[in-house]
Amino acid sequence: MNIQFLGATGTVTGSKYLLSAGSAKVLVDCGLFQGYKQLRLRNRERLPLHPSELDAVILTHAHLDHSGYLPLLVKNGFKGKIYCSEATFELCKILLPDSGHLQEEEASYANRHGFSRHSPALPLYSEADAVRSFAFFSPVRFDTDFQVCEGLSAHLHRAGHILGAAIVSLQSAEATITFSGDLGRPNDLIMLPPSLIEKTDYLVVESTYGNRRHDSADPAILLGKTIRDTAARGGVTIIPSFAVGRAQALLYAIHLLKAGGDIPAALPIYLNSPMAVDATEIYHKHRQDHRLDYQQCEAMFRTAKIITSVEESIALNQRQLPMVIIAASGMATGGRVLHHLKAFAPDPRNTILFVGFQAGGTRGAAMIAGADAIKIHGEYVPLRAQVSQIDNMSAHADADEILDWLSHFSSPPRQTFITHGEPAAADALRRRIEEKLHWSCRVPDYLESVELP
Ligand SMILES: [Zn+2]
Repeated sequence: MNIQFLGATGTVTGSKYLLSAGSAKVLVDCGLFQGYKQLRLRNRERLPLHPSELDAVILTHAHLDHSGYLPLLVKNGFKGKIYCSEATFELCKILLPDSGHLQEEEASYANRHGFSRHSPALPLYSEADAVRSFAFFSPVRFDTDFQVCEGLSAHLHRAGHILGAAIVSLQSAEATITFSGDLGRPNDLIMLPPSLIEKTDYLVVESTYGNRRHDSADPAILLGKTIRDTAARGGVTIIPSFAVGRAQALLYAIHLLKAGGDIPAALPIYLNSPMAVDATEIYHKHRQDHRLDYQQCEAMFRTAKIITSVEESIALNQRQLPMVIIAASGMATGGRVLHHLKAFAPDPRNTILFVGFQAGGTRGAAMIAGADAIKIHGEYVPLRAQVSQIDNMSAHADADEILDWLSHFSSPPRQTFITHGEPAAADALRRRIEEKLHWSCRVPDYLESVELP
């Protein structure tokens, strides 16, 4: 076997691993690069092989940095099958067209206002391209072996993280290789803990929080205090969040805060996303994939008024009243949250609260670093609102939790590749694994190709 790292090296975005076994060629994850411009430009580079040469794609989960390149792969000639869990397929059916739609919108906005250096600005792919990719999906069950192509079988284990997320193991005649995907947390409010893996010859493990330990304080306490304090000064709490998955976890936490009297029961909560309604059904349908029962799911959805129309979304920006708005995207790289930031970031009564990892080069990372203005749609918006972050609500395992997950392997993999982390995080995790577990580790470079004997 041979693995080539086509993304998630030195960054948490662009996950794409090309695995070759004999004549078989499979891509594990097919994500978009996000954040720094030099990373985003890679979305427009050619892959080292023609997409038609690929036998299959296997997705660990639906987040766009793992799935968002698929429509382009199909547009450029991919003809194989896309394997993933049922819930991942259902989430992709919501997320990929939305991603195409946002890219079309951004391109047309840039063309109308003339702030793109490319003329005309072209989207990477359209909503219609995304819909065309659905025909290639072939959802599979968790915990069951399936044939990927001649000489290669695979198995999805539950990863926690978000609905449908999987740890993927692939087996050829010579060896097994396991991809952690994004590893969830042992005690998540909604998601189940990641499955324990006993054995693999090669391991590719994520390192988003490879140099950090999540605060042990209950994140709900900080969430409650932030929302309460902001409302008390007449402010709006804006929570940039991925609309499917993280948003639901937030709503459940807010439901518990309201039920416990920690925040005012009458405080309006809005989930502003055209995708949110569809997500409701998916949570009900995949109850075996998470911890909530029917009543808890219902309570979670009743917590927020769901805003789907553009008119209602714009209307929210006119009201400076205590409220909470949850809107995508989670790193403020695009989506409706940008319009809310334009409207609410200049007012010091308001709070912008981040609950997920903020990749370098994103507006989210800049705001947390203390920027006094953010560039949105070509113009600078002053940032006077309070900016805070609750790391502990993250859907990613921290360094201790990753180490703990690794310590359940019965024998060390021959080689462990550490990916999906910014350089300091990946290197810190490498050092910890080498020192604590004495495993052979390596942090691969972009486009590096490694033989797996
Ligand atoms: Zn993810």
